[in-house]
Amino acid sequence: MARTKPDPWVPFFEIAQDPWSKIKEIKAKTGKKIIGHVLPDAPEELIYAAGAIPVAVAGAGIPISLAQSQIPSYSCSHGMGALELKLKGTLDILDGIIIPYVCDTTRNLYHLWRRLFPDVPCEFLRLPKKLGDPGASHYLKEEYLRISKWLSFITGQNVTEDNLSSSISTYNESRDQLKSAYLKMKTSPAVWSANRVIAVFESVFRFPRDEHLSLMRSLPWDVAGTDNTSRSKIYVRGKVWDPPEITGLFDELGLTLAGDEIVTGFRSVEVNTQACGDLFGSLVDRHMSMTPYTGYYVDPRKLVEDFLARVRSSGAQGVVFLNPKFCEAAAFDTPDFVNALKKNNIPCLVLETSSRGTSTSQIKLRLEAFGEILSGDLP
Ligand code: SF4
Repeated sequence: MARTKPDPWVPFFEIAQDPWSKIKEIKAKTGKKIIGHVLPDAPEELIYAAGAIPVAVAGAGIPISLAQSQIPSYSCSHGMGALELKLKGTLDILDGIIIPYVCDTTRNLYHLWRRLFPDVPCEFLRLPKKLGDPGASHYLKEEYLRISKWLSFITGQNVTEDNLSSSISTYNESRDQLKSAYLKMKTSPAVWSANRVIAVFESVFRFPRDEHLSLMRSLPWDVAGTDNTSRSKIYVRGKVWDPPEITGLFDELGLTLAGDEIVTGFRSVEVNTQACGDLFGSLVDRHMSMTPYTGYYVDPRKLVEDFLARVRSSGAQGVVFLNPKFCEAAAFDTPDFVNALKKNNIPCLVLETSSRGTSTSQIKLRLEAFGEILSGDLP
């Protein structure tokens, strides 16, 4: 009897949907320390070089029952969901956690964490708010050095030039593979659907990079490109793929991702780290050259011009914003982007996500109407 080949996409969906069971197995097998990091922008290469496994903690989509007793109900779901996971015991597997300073919510989350869970080592990654400034680069390098000492204290392994260089090379190789997967999604969406490719991206933040690279080798790389001219091309800006079903909706509604700025999407692979010379400086350079996360400071005019240039060069016909409810940073910068798109006759749709009471069917309806505008079926 002929054996059926295992579906190569399944492991990625399993990790993305239930990362904590997988991580438990890996910890038991390897004995490695597990360091959580609240998204975005913790330097995963440093965690890996210190001998630990970095695992992203994302709060979106987590049903809330306990966290509201500790954090105001008007906090975004990313902060609230992360706290909920810890209060429920899901994050008890962590040996430490890094919370980045990107907004008031993450800053408050750090202080709450220290007070509520004094037994779990927690570090605040003080990311500079201003990008593109020599002083900020110098400061961030010192911050990375400080964090690497904290990591070494937890794992008992120093971050040396050798293990950091090897970690950076692994991460660069992983990013290159993910970039190829993203390209496949644009040219062969029938097989490399957005839902599948984004599951590959999501899982990479929750699995050892070298093992994830091995899993990626089984994907159907030899599938030929298909004609996708009938599909409408969209560009997406936001924090995470939220609700998680959204990529399946893109596929179902014939929308192809031409590009995105999601922190677990293309933004995470667009820039590699130079693996020679001043390695800490290379990590800083990478951070400074990535698409700025909402809440970082860039000259407002340049911020909008650069955004428009990225949308145009992607070839997208329209832009979808996935804005987390109660995210002040996104609420602050979205109107400038929307006005610029309108002036340039580029249609856009702003979706408020992670909102208790927003159903996937409502989002589907709005996306469907947006797709019809892009395809010319609606005025
Ligand atoms: S930037 Fe927005 S979405 Fe991200 S943690 Fe802060 S408030 Fe939440």
